Amino acid sequence: MAGTNVPGGQSSIDIARDTYRSISLYAPNRAPAAIDLSDNTNLWGVPPAAARAIHKAASVTVTRYPALYAADVKSAIADYIGVSPDMVVTGCGSDDVLDSAIRAFGEPGDRVVYPDPSFAMIPIFAQMNGLTGVAVPLTAAYDADPDAFIGADAKITYLCTPNNPTGASFSRAAIDRIVREVHGIVIIDEAYAEFASHDCLDLVDGSPHVLVSRTLSKAFGLAGLRIGYAIGHPELVAEVEKSRGPYKVNGVAQMAAVAALTEDRGWVMDRIHEAIANRDRLTGTLRAMGLEPLPSDANFVLVPVPDAMAADRGMRERGIAVRPFTSLPRIGDALRISVGPWEMLEQCITALGEVLEAMA
Ligand SMILES: *Cc1c(COP(=O)(O)O)cnc(C)c1O
Repeated sequence: MAGTNVPGGQSSIDIARDTYRSISLYAPNRAPAAIDLSDNTNLWGVPPAAARAIHKAASVTVTRYPALYAADVKSAIADYIGVSPDMVVTGCGSDDVLDSAIRAFGEPGDRVVYPDPSFAMIPIFAQMNGLTGVAVPLTAAYDADPDAFIGADAKITYLCTPNNPTGASFSRAAIDRIVREVHGIVIIDEAYAEFASHDCLDLVDGSPHVLVSRTLSKAFGLAGLRIGYAIGHPELVAEVEKSRGPYKVNGVAQMAAVAALTEDRGWVMDRIHEAIANRDRLTGTLRAMGLEPLPSDANFVLVPVPDAMAADRGMRERGIAVRPFTSLPRIGDALRISVGPWEMLEQCITALGEVLEAMA
């Protein structure tokens, strides 16, 4: 088999790093479906000015390197958020910003504490960088448990609000206590902040150890271009930039990002309002079907079902992709449904009704 043997006759397993042996590749089911509600991206499409910028970029030279540290994107984000550009670091998706931040602040062997369930990439980024992941269960109200986070005594504390996949925001009281009492860095992942009732950006001012990460992949509809960012104290941001390197956001993505952040804000805001209205309508409809969806502050809804893998198969047979989760702590099996235009959600609801009836 190609790749099994390397020069010197060792098998590939002999050359793998110890800490990498148990890492598997990220493998969600991405088989095409007529309606894909599986990844929380913007189901209304690409913002119009960003789409125009992508077309225009095709005629611009790509023989040269893009702007160092994506300086123009940093300025556009700084203006959108209302901070100075030296408080912004960008990356190849917020995935890259989170990975870079973990690498910037954690020496191999240090601990990273994160909620469970939460964003699946965090334990993987911890392991990729030689750090030890510590999972902390959510409270019964799907909130962060301050005692557990503080007790973990980790170099890096990761919070995600609204949390993926549960959808609820963490309470400000819990976040404030964690930020006040942990030692080390606190990363607050706000990938879904645009859909939420409150956010934590104000914490960045008084807390030089807090980094808030965000993305253009969800509300801004640019997941395929891979642009994420974080906001923090300039000294914190400078450390993440060292770890990230100079050229992580490509030139075409930079042009689209600047266009979206400067010209498309109204379009994006309208889609956000529609997503919030549809989310609440979807939650209500699922409740009326006798299901118990979790309250969501994001652009997706998590609904517990008896057998998520079987339900997912049934949904796919009907042309609908959702994201199945099995044996989540405190929740059990569940489907995560991304919110989009109501016509898509209607078809999803019909399919789910049929699937659950067939399974009963
Ligand atoms: C989608 C998501 C991200 C990653 O988004 P990028 O596309 O890498 O910017 C980060 N955190 C959470 C919680 C997400 O759901």
